[in-house]
Amino acid sequence: MNQAQTDSLRFAYAEIGKDDEEPPGKRSGSSSLTLTRGLALAVESPDSDKSPPEDVKQNDTQVKKIIHLHRYMFRRRFFPSASTAEWNDWQWQIRNRIMDVETLSRMIALTTDETDALTCNGNGLPFSITPYYASLIDPNDPSQALRKTMVPVMTETVHAPEESGDPLGEDNMSPVPGLVHRYPDRVLFLTTQFCSAYCRYCTRSRIMNRDAGYEFNPRQWDQAIDYIAQTPVIRDVVLSGGDPMTLSDDRLEYLLSNLRRIPHVEMIRIGTKVPAVLPQRVTSKLVRMLKKYHPLYMSVHFTHPDELTPETSQACNRLADAGIPLGSQTVLLAGVNDDVDTMKRLMQGLLRIRVRPYYLYQCDPIIGSSHFRTPVRKGLEIIRGLRGHTSGYAVPSYVIDAPGGGGKIPILPDYVQGYDGTELVMKNYQDRYYRYPDCDPAHIQ
Ligand code: SF4
Repeated sequence: MNQAQTDSLRFAYAEIGKDDEEPPGKRSGSSSLTLTRGLALAVESPDSDKSPPEDVKQNDTQVKKIIHLHRYMFRRRFFPSASTAEWNDWQWQIRNRIMDVETLSRMIALTTDETDALTCNGNGLPFSITPYYASLIDPNDPSQALRKTMVPVMTETVHAPEESGDPLGEDNMSPVPGLVHRYPDRVLFLTTQFCSAYCRYCTRSRIMNRDAGYEFNPRQWDQAIDYIAQTPVIRDVVLSGGDPMTLSDDRLEYLLSNLRRIPHVEMIRIGTKVPAVLPQRVTSKLVRMLKKYHPLYMSVHFTHPDELTPETSQACNRLADAGIPLGSQTVLLAGVNDDVDTMKRLMQGLLRIRVRPYYLYQCDPIIGSSHFRTPVRKGLEIIRGLRGHTSGYAVPSYVIDAPGGGGKIPILPDYVQGYDGTELVMKNYQDRYYRYPDCDPAHIQ
């Protein structure tokens, strides 16, 4: 960096220090920020494509500082009148979501394809990004992972023959509106069609479409709660949507308290992407309320290590401190996270912020998702690249949610090679063969 850039960086930190409770780099919790060098480049040289200085290329700390600076400058440039208190207020973030092509085009250099997709709203999935999450997007690189997951492209309008609006057959397994009862002892409770930011590969894009006739309201919730109360086999309720964590504290508590009153409901889970796209939502007040309803679990949706910012770390640590076990759910996405290195950084980073990798999903064949789907062998390659090469805790279960409603089916690399007499022949993570003397009588000759 040259002297002017260093001075600018120092100035930015001084400014942040004036009105932030704590400067971003000093917030509690471990920072696992690993944002792209592309974004760093955009800050370094917003109007040119020249290479970054050698010291920037090689110095991760410097890159992190540049990312912080970029985010600071983003806020100052596009939301100049927002105070720090407003920026850190989740309702301000929701009110100020970026929802149209004109606003987004002021913040990032849109490609023609992105502009066309934003203009035609092809498959009915709304477009929205929180200002916070937009500050993580590279304005100059359409191939940046986070940008690909949030900014639509025209391929979304392509309806491949194998795709459907409801590939998991959820609507056919719905005893009352908004409730999916597929597995014997648990139900999926769809609470809202609202998300603060819409992932372009969303499995439930059909319900986000405001013209599709889905409805979510407290009267419908009561029907679902009644069904659960009258069905003693249900011991586990998953609140999902849309994103239930975008509900107000009161509404969320209404759901949790009513479910907690049902004696056979042993556990409640919340599925959310809020810690990644709207970490400001995880307030002290919210976690004080949530911890009244244990055992409460949370499945947090993460896509890429670039999402693991200090704010996200703080949100996850707050939830973990409240005794809520956190598990991650990640969709395998072409050109976003479909390589071993990215996935390893994501899984290891999640463990650092106290989130246990839980599921890696093969992308569902929803309408307009062909550009996101990878061959299944990619997922197997990633699991093979994790298992044995890093902590077992960092290895999620790779599953395909079977089209037609068959449920999640685990997909495993071929570690078991078969039997040789009474011995089970196995292959380890280094592709070396080992034998285990199995006592199963079926294999004793
Ligand atoms: S947060 Fe979840 S429900 Fe909302 S758009 Fe993303 S994948 Fe869909």
